Amino acid sequence: MNRADRVAVALPVPLPQLFDYHPPEDGSPVQPGMRVAVPFGNRSLIGLVVAAAPHIAGDERQYKRIQRVLDAHPVAPADWLEALQWAAGYYQHPLGEVVAAALPAGLREGRSAELPRKTALGLTDLGRSAMPNLPARSQRLRAAMQALAAGDTTAKIDAATRRRGLQAGWLAEIIAPPPQMQLAQGPALTPAQAQTLTALQTGSGFAVSLLEGVTGSGKTELYLRLAEQALAAGRQALILCPEIGLTPQLTQRFVARFGPVVAGFHSGMGDAARNHAWLAIREGHARILVGTRSAVFAPFCDLGLVIVDEEHDASYKQQEGFRYHARDLALVRAKAADARVVLGSATPALETLANAKAGRYHHVRLSERIAGTSPPVPQLIDVNVHPVQHGLSEPLAAAIDRHLTAGGQALLFINRRGYAPTLLCDTCHWIAPCPHCDARLNLHRGEGALRCHHCGYASRPPRECPSCGGKKLIPVGEGAERVEEALKNRFPGKRIERFDTDRLRAAGQLEALLDDVRERRVDVLVGTQMLAKGHDFPALSLVGVVNADQALFSSDFRALERLGQLLTQVAGRAGRSATAPIAPEVLIQTREPKHPSLTALLRDGYAALAETLLRERADAGLPPSAHLALLRVEAPSRAKADAFLLDAKAVFPNTHRVQLLGPAPAPMERRDGRARAQFLLSSTARPAMQRVLAAWLPAVAALPGAKALRWSIDVDPVDLF
Ligand code: ADP
Ligand code: ZN
Ligand code: ZN
Repeated sequence: MNRADRVAVALPVPLPQLFDYHPPEDGSPVQPGMRVAVPFGNRSLIGLVVAAAPHIAGDERQYKRIQRVLDAHPVAPADWLEALQWAAGYYQHPLGEVVAAALPAGLREGRSAELPRKTALGLTDLGRSAMPNLPARSQRLRAAMQALAAGDTTAKIDAATRRRGLQAGWLAEIIAPPPQMQLAQGPALTPAQAQTLTALQTGSGFAVSLLEGVTGSGKTELYLRLAEQALAAGRQALILCPEIGLTPQLTQRFVARFGPVVAGFHSGMGDAARNHAWLAIREGHARILVGTRSAVFAPFCDLGLVIVDEEHDASYKQQEGFRYHARDLALVRAKAADARVVLGSATPALETLANAKAGRYHHVRLSERIAGTSPPVPQLIDVNVHPVQHGLSEPLAAAIDRHLTAGGQALLFINRRGYAPTLLCDTCHWIAPCPHCDARLNLHRGEGALRCHHCGYASRPPRECPSCGGKKLIPVGEGAERVEEALKNRFPGKRIERFDTDRLRAAGQLEALLDDVRERRVDVLVGTQMLAKGHDFPALSLVGVVNADQALFSSDFRALERLGQLLTQVAGRAGRSATAPIAPEVLIQTREPKHPSLTALLRDGYAALAETLLRERADAGLPPSAHLALLRVEAPSRAKADAFLLDAKAVFPNTHRVQLLGPAPAPMERRDGRARAQFLLSSTARPAMQRVLAAWLPAVAALPGAKALRWSIDVDPVDLF
């Protein structure tokens, strides 16, 4: 057997190794990067050929044959597969699952990787001469031919009519001309923008800049200029943005400027559309890809620019399965392609700030808003002094009144879905618990349900207390639904709209509502996270934060960083237009008006808070001063989880370069009926962490308990469970 006799295939199974197969019977050529169908157990799977399998002397095993080769060419350029191999190694995740995450669903399932040629119908000379004498019953065909004769290429022609016309030779398929579009011209840059653009262009090839620009300072306009330059140089651009909710808006701005060479890529699109965008990038028909997290795996043929907008956003981190960070992978891809990178944010992640401080990134600032207004300085409302009713304190309600009367618009931010986070018995203080988690059930009143926000458990709210039979069950605390109701009661006749995932499931629904907001048909917006970032609402004059206190006492070491980012982003929604009818205000309700982080943020801004937090992280040996990894386990009982972790500890390599902390229960010890525990690994050196993980994890996988439990590794975790 010589070495070309077998190839190594990555398969979508949770096993770290590649699988060797013989080439197919029919002799189709097989190369790395091609998809193949192979027998696996008693199934057939689609995998990706990674390499010729090395010949092992004395290997007498029987290998199965590839059943079918799906591609005549590799599905993506060679550097794509290299990037995936790098990611599989860095995140310690099986390459087969990495490939499955990187391919759009259509390709993963075996659909053709050839881009269908866009054909349109044209009228032939034969058809033109036949037109006066068409049979009377051919009404549809006549209409179609008349439309084509008149130059209307958009006319809808049904399949039967099309077939008849083609068979008769009256119609022919032609390659469609690209749609004509009126492209928008960008505004002239302000002096500050022009200066910043020059700074972003310094150097050539791979270079990373942090663009720290306040909300509304015109960062997106700079992204457009950089994209224009990349395109002029014949290269492609990747624009990553954190949320599906924001993608259509951003895509729209790029389409308006560059036309059909722009493709979108996000989960709100259908599989076919995503497949198409992916292949169009590979073929180079699409020059700009605007997308969420997974767009980082697109098969660019010549990537020249990578923009990561709102780079601090936690949604760039995949939290399940293949736990990659899209910002970090974007850097890896840009480096391989010798592309320029811009990380944009008003509130950069501490990791990014640390890289900028260390001189690895250029730090470029854009501190003036285009409209000349500055974001208002937030004011605190002490709810110990001004108690809240259904989430609203009197000063906040009065401010809403003031702004609406003056013709402004208000946004209330609340970080919780549902009506209330707790249902409490007034008599015995029983609290509705989730039967499967260490968590309380949230009351969703509109829906008439108690819901767990961690495992999805739902039940009807009880009529009486299950513990004492008491009849008075009271919702305690507030969610978006309750605040919405309170506002409707207080401001009848005003249009109040709630924005959260309970209400807006489809991307289109959100878009329509956002249009209403921009056109000032909405008076007050109540919403969760969904409203905090990116959106540009010109008339918005008041921002109220209903409750920000949970983060002040969270055990998560990133909580204060997140709070600083969130409050700055939410505040940045207010007063974006210079012609607002009333001076913008930001009001934050809190029980902790003297909390040092909160006061520092308000007095000195996010950058100053970030400095403090960076010092604290360094003292505590936390990121970005250290690199972390989490080994998590979920088991039927705490004892089983701990036993597994202790076995894992016993096979931990002997090293002082990586510290192993734990086993410790996860912050939420029981979730969805399972006990959760973890090890935290910490090291000041990434290579040491990588070496230790590479040595340790195969030993963990070989432990007797490893197959029976759910366990996972998270490199650079964003959430500690
Ligand atoms: P950011 O991305 O920093 O939030 P944008 O690029 O969205 O900021 O700009 C904010 C607003 O200012 C947008 O409405 C944008 O169209 C407008 N804008 C940006 N640059 C200019 C400019 N040079 N002249 C006029 N308007 C501009
Ligand atoms: Zn009770
Ligand atoms: Zn639950």
